[in-house]
Amino acid sequence: MIPFADLKQQYRNIKDEIDEAVFNCLREGDYIRGKSVCQFEMNFAKYLGAGYCISCGNGTDALEIILKALRIGPGDEVIVPALTWISTAEVVNNVGAEPVFVDICEDSFTIDPGKIAEKITNRTKAVIPVHLYGCPADMTGIMRTAREFNISVIEDCAQAHGAEYHGQKTGTLGVASAFSFFPSKNLGAYGDGGAVVTNDRELSDQIRMLGNHGQLDVKHEHAVIGRNSRLDSVQASILGIKLKYLDEWNKIRRILADHYRSYLQGITGIVLPPDFEKRTHVYHLFVVRSSDRNRLIKILDENSISYGIHYPAPLPFVEAYRYKRHSVKEFPVAVKAAKEIISLPLYPELSEDQVKDICKLIRKKY
Ligand SMILES: *Cc1c(COP(=O)(O)O)cnc(C)c1O
Repeated sequence: MIPFADLKQQYRNIKDEIDEAVFNCLREGDYIRGKSVCQFEMNFAKYLGAGYCISCGNGTDALEIILKALRIGPGDEVIVPALTWISTAEVVNNVGAEPVFVDICEDSFTIDPGKIAEKITNRTKAVIPVHLYGCPADMTGIMRTAREFNISVIEDCAQAHGAEYHGQKTGTLGVASAFSFFPSKNLGAYGDGGAVVTNDRELSDQIRMLGNHGQLDVKHEHAVIGRNSRLDSVQASILGIKLKYLDEWNKIRRILADHYRSYLQGITGIVLPPDFEKRTHVYHLFVVRSSDRNRLIKILDENSISYGIHYPAPLPFVEAYRYKRHSVKEFPVAVKAAKEIISLPLYPELSEDQVKDICKLIRKKY
């Protein structure tokens, strides 16, 4: 039996440090907006090489708060990739604006910069590239188009903690970026958590206010209509410990991906994810394409190897977006990908031997 992730094993590996950090919060009465939150925000900003980090309740809130801070709302449009987790699009609806879907690239599964311009109208305010599966989107092309049309670039980094584009950490390339600390992400809490990262001081103040009832420094002074979205101290203390291991864990993920690539290479009907030059992929997920996915699923099922499908349908075709009446011809690459993709187990606690076993089995039976 090989699970899809092994968070219990990860906890066992760092148990003493985690327990100490959590109990310290409890002993100190550090629950909300305390020392460990402040410390984590500083350390995460420093890790990324960013000016400001503002923690919040989860990754979806992080995206929504960025849109609010940029004053995106009713009448506005925001460009999002057709294949991503639903958060990227639903936040646009939730601020009263309209998501506009763009097809993805065949090789990276990230938004196709060449197809953005044709979707831009005079209502378009921003584009949200997603560094899907941990692979940095083609930011050069995206930034060029965004500059040309004067729209904001908001990075969805929920799957890409520590990934780099041309030597620069993802999350520092656009005007602001959103991170999720959902337990299974590359940097995950033991509950919900999220953060916004930006280099823009004014925007960071606005974001901090919006997530804290519109208050900035003085209690009971509410400058804007805000909300309550915060990371709690226990989660922040856990993230502080895990941040120290992030690079090491990402390195193992990249090594395991290389093993998968070498052991699976040359099997007819299986296409492996490329490792792009100048894009440091952090393999939140190891996604292969299979020309006969049902057959591959049967092999994995019969041998108790877990897998996932991220995601079974491009967003324009999930029930919630049926109202947009899109046709499959508009998103040929995403539609084809959704039929072929399958995520194999990849996490730092997985061994090279386990990867070898999975690959041997696929090579023999597929
Ligand atoms: C996980 C995820 C989010 C949202 O994060 P939550 O913390 O679960 O709200 C947003 N975008 C993408 C691409 C994600 O994978």
